[in-house]
Amino acid sequence: MTDFDYDIGIIGGGAAGLTVTSGASQLGAKTLLIEKEPALGGDCLHFGCVPSKTLIHSAHVYHLMQHAERFGLPKASIPPVDFKQVAKRIQKVIATIQQHDSEERFCRLGAKVLFGEAVFKDEHTIDLGGHRKSAKNWVIATGSSPVAPPIPGLYNTTFLTNREIFSLDHLPKSMVILGGGPIGIEMAQAFNRLGTSVTVVDRSAQILGKEDKDMADRVASIMEDEGVTFFLEASIEEILEAHGCKSVKIIDKSGESKDLNTETILVAMGRAPNIENMGLEDIGVAYDRYGISVDNRMRTNHKHIYAAGDVSGGFQFTHAAGYEGSIVVSNAIFRLPRKADYTYLPWCTYTDPELASIGMNEKTAASRGLDYTVWSEEFKDNDRSLAEDEVTGSIKMILNAKEKPLGVQILGPRAGDLLSEWVAILNGKVKLSTLAAAVHPYPTMGEINKRVAGNFFSPKIFSKKVQKGLKFIFQLKGRACSLRED
Ligand SMILES: Cc1cc2nc3c(=O)[nH]c(=O)nc-3n(C[C@H](O)[C@H](O)[C@H](O)COP(=O)(O)OP(=O)(O)OC[C@H]3O[C@@H](n4cnc5c(N)ncnc54)[C@H](O)[C@@H]3O)c2cc1C
Repeated sequence: MTDFDYDIGIIGGGAAGLTVTSGASQLGAKTLLIEKEPALGGDCLHFGCVPSKTLIHSAHVYHLMQHAERFGLPKASIPPVDFKQVAKRIQKVIATIQQHDSEERFCRLGAKVLFGEAVFKDEHTIDLGGHRKSAKNWVIATGSSPVAPPIPGLYNTTFLTNREIFSLDHLPKSMVILGGGPIGIEMAQAFNRLGTSVTVVDRSAQILGKEDKDMADRVASIMEDEGVTFFLEASIEEILEAHGCKSVKIIDKSGESKDLNTETILVAMGRAPNIENMGLEDIGVAYDRYGISVDNRMRTNHKHIYAAGDVSGGFQFTHAAGYEGSIVVSNAIFRLPRKADYTYLPWCTYTDPELASIGMNEKTAASRGLDYTVWSEEFKDNDRSLAEDEVTGSIKMILNAKEKPLGVQILGPRAGDLLSEWVAILNGKVKLSTLAAAVHPYPTMGEINKRVAGNFFSPKIFSKKVQKGLKFIFQLKGRACSLRED
C-alpha cells in the first residue's frame, strides 16, 4: 500500500477548507492545510461577510443618527463620516475573529498549516515552493475571485472590488457600482448612507436577480427613496479615465446614451472560481467556467479529490461552504456516502430591511410548473415593528397543492434571524398547524412567522360553515353587534 505523507490535504483556508481541517484533524486524520495568503479565514473574514456586515452596521447607525426625529428625539447636526475610522473598526472586528481562525488553533487540533501556493504534480502530490507533499485524499477549497468583465476601457481604469473597498483611506464623493447582485446592492446602500452619491448599473430588469421581482423591487424602491440611483436594463459601453476623473458610458433602457461621471467604480459583476495555476489540467480534474465539477458527495472526477465551497460553483455563501466541507468530512474520513442537499439552503441579503429566503420562491415554483399559493403578512401589522418604526416589508410563504410549505421569503428587519425558525420548520418537517398554534413571545417581530401560518388556517377555522355547525350543535346565539352601513 502506498504510504502518503498525510491522510488528507486541504488547499485553501477559508470557510470550506477550515471546516474540513477542523473535522478531519479532530477525528484523528493526519491533516495538512495549505493557504496562499499570510492568514487563514478566506474571503469571508478578510474581504467578504465580516467587513461588509461591519460596514453595513456603521452605515445603519449613522442613518439612525441622521433620522433621530423619527423616534421623537432631537434632530442632531451630524458631522460627515471619516471613512478611516470606519475602516479601522472593520479591521478590529476582523482581527478579533482572526483569533478563532489562527494557525495555532488548528495546530492544537492536530493539523499542520503551511503557507504558499499549491500546484498538483500528480493525483496525490502537490508542490509547495519546491517541496513535495503527498496525501491520500485532497480537498480543493480555493474559493472565488471577483470577475472583471471585458468592458472597453475597464482595464485602463483604476477600479475597486471587494478586496479594496473596505480599506479606503477616505469616503468617495461618488461611486458607480457595476452589478446589482447582493454584493453590489449591500455596498450601494451602505456607502450611500455614509454619504457617497451612489449609482447602480445592471443589465437586468430587477436587482437581486435570484429573488422574486416584487421583493427585489421593494428593496430598490427603499434605496431609491434614500438617494441611490438605478440604471436597470442598461448596457455598459465604455469606461474612460482622464485627469483622475472616471466616466462610465451606458445606454439606458430607453436607448439613450449617458456618461456617469464618478470618483470611484466598484465592480460587482459576479465571481470566478480560483482554479488557475494549480496544475488541474495536468492531472485531469474537470471544471468549467463556473467551477470544479463535483458530484453530490463533493467528489471531482478523481474520487479521492474533493472540491468544496465557492470553487465548486454552487451556492456561494459561507454557510454553504461550511456545509459542503462537512459533506467532505463524512465521505473522506467517515467513509459514509453522505450527499449534499440544497433544498432548504437559506440565504440573506443584508440590506435594510434584509431580504432572506429559504426553499422555493415564486420564481422557482413557477419555472418548475408547480401549483402553488402565496400567503403573506406585512410588518406594518406587527406591533414590535410599529414600536421600532421598522414597518417596511412582508413575509411570503409559498405552499404547494398539498398545502405543504415550499419556501419562505422575508423582507424585513432582521429577516435573516427571523428565517431561522423556518430553517427548523422546513428541515424538521414540522406541521404548519404546529407553528400556527405555538405561543410566541409578545411583542416580537418573530410573531410574523406564526401570523403568516395563521393566515392560512383562519379562513378555514372562522368560516360560515364552522359557525353554522357550532350554532346547530351548541345553540350559539350569533352576532351581538353589527356596524350599520349608513
Ligand atoms: C463582499 C462579500 C460579502 C459577502 N457576504 C456574505 C454573507 O454575508 N454571507 C455569506 O454566507 N456569504 C457571503 N459572501 C460569500 C462568502 O464570502 C463566500 O461564499 C465564502 O468565503 C466561500 O468560502 P470558501 O471557503 O469557498 O472560499 P474562501 O473563503 O475564499 O477561501 C478560499 C481560500 O483559498 C485560498 N487559496 C486560493 N487559491 C489558493 C492556492 N492556489 N493555494 C492555497 N490557497 C489558495 C484563498 O487565499 C482563500 O483563503 C460574501 C462575499 C463577498 C465578496
